[in-house]
Amino acid sequence: MTAVRETFLRELRRIDSLSQVSSVLSWDEQVNLPPGKASSSQRAAQSSALAELVHREFTGSAFSDLLQRVEEDTDEPDEDLEIILREVRRDLDQAQKLPSDFVARKASHESSTYHLWKSAREKNDFAAFAPALEKTMQLARDEAEYVGYRDNPYDYHLDKHDPGMDACGIGKLFDELQTGLVPLAEQILSFAEEIKIPVLKGFPKDKQEIFLREVLESLRFDFTRGRIDVAVHPFCSGNGADTRLTTRYDSENPLDSLFSAIHEAGHGLYEQGLPSEWIGTPLSEAAGMGVHESQSRIWENQVGRSHAFWNKWEPRFRELFPEPLAEITSEQLFLAINKVSRNPIRVDADEVTYNLHIILRFELEQSLFSGDIEIKDLPGAWNEKAEKLLGLQPTCDAEGVLQDVHWSGGAFGYFPSYCLGNLLAAQLWERALEEDIPDPEDPSKLLSWLELKVHRYGRRMNLLELTKGVTGDSLDPRCLLRYLESRYVSLYEKAN
Ligand code: ZN
Repeated sequence: MTAVRETFLRELRRIDSLSQVSSVLSWDEQVNLPPGKASSSQRAAQSSALAELVHREFTGSAFSDLLQRVEEDTDEPDEDLEIILREVRRDLDQAQKLPSDFVARKASHESSTYHLWKSAREKNDFAAFAPALEKTMQLARDEAEYVGYRDNPYDYHLDKHDPGMDACGIGKLFDELQTGLVPLAEQILSFAEEIKIPVLKGFPKDKQEIFLREVLESLRFDFTRGRIDVAVHPFCSGNGADTRLTTRYDSENPLDSLFSAIHEAGHGLYEQGLPSEWIGTPLSEAAGMGVHESQSRIWENQVGRSHAFWNKWEPRFRELFPEPLAEITSEQLFLAINKVSRNPIRVDADEVTYNLHIILRFELEQSLFSGDIEIKDLPGAWNEKAEKLLGLQPTCDAEGVLQDVHWSGGAFGYFPSYCLGNLLAAQLWERALEEDIPDPEDPSKLLSWLELKVHRYGRRMNLLELTKGVTGDSLDPRCLLRYLESRYVSLYEKAN
């Protein structure tokens, strides 16, 4: 490798190391930071100093000149390097198109908006949040204008989370999904509402922690380069060399901590499966939010809620929690694990109705960017769509338009990734079954298959290219519909 290429990769990794420090600081803030104001304001200052440093190093002339020299280097072609250059160029162009005063204005607006949203949600007061959200929306439009977009400013935000996607393409997928899913969900709900599903209560937290760790070890999450801690909101951060998972324990809701942890471990397994020799470059980064989410969902849902998984784990679960499970049959336990219900809150939704929550948000974001609705119309539009898609009316805005943190942080275009991830997870699962891996529900077999088909590519392929590469087909909502139907219709029909 020529000297200029080596220098470029060294610089790229050095700048990435600074981002890694920033990620550890943010993990520490959510897991370890003392509660006092002095600690949190000191941490905010540290994080913003570091963020500014990373941005300056990345967008500065030294690094862009180096990138340009490598692009012009005519030495032997190197396929890995070409992908790295393509992706770094994309990131750098976007970062350089945003004026630094805009970046600073946006960051300061978002940090104050988060607190406004929190208090508006507590007080159930959308009007108190609306003016700040107006400004967030304007900043999102401005950002799209600075960087550029395909047909609509919303396309820029979608592409930011899932490269290659736009509103038109996602709209087609979601329309097809919605057409099949609304009647399917109604059918499953009509069965489910007839059944009394037991509530699981009184599960000591220390034993939940033991169970969860055994499960994650069996999924081959590597604890020599990862760990799990407690935080208010579960998340996964870091990279394959140091993967940080969090969950939370509630003795009255043991399935929440278990499935949150399996979900985050799915993200972690993806990080740990990305090629470690390329850490610090796009070849060891996720292909986008949708692909990341497909990896968490396949472990949480297709594997974690399956009969095969619970046939294996139920004896141990009962051994650890004999008392709270004494009156609960295996069939009831399995129904509790696969409970489907009408719930106004997205994060508490089951996997059947979850995607309808996402379609609702996608349609509202589209209307906001096209100007069809204004911020002040959001609560009404939200409730109307909740009725149409989910057959329910939120009792208040805290249960409706104010429930999610995303818009307060300006994260428009993020929600669709969750549903794209569910679509891809179902399609991968179908493919894994078709390819006759001897036993796809055996976690180690599935993990090896995912490493081979998904993880090792990093940002080499985007969501659509990866789907085509692995399954031979375009992203197809019918796979998710088939999966939900085969798992839930028969389960609830039998239970009735
Ligand atoms: Zn996730």
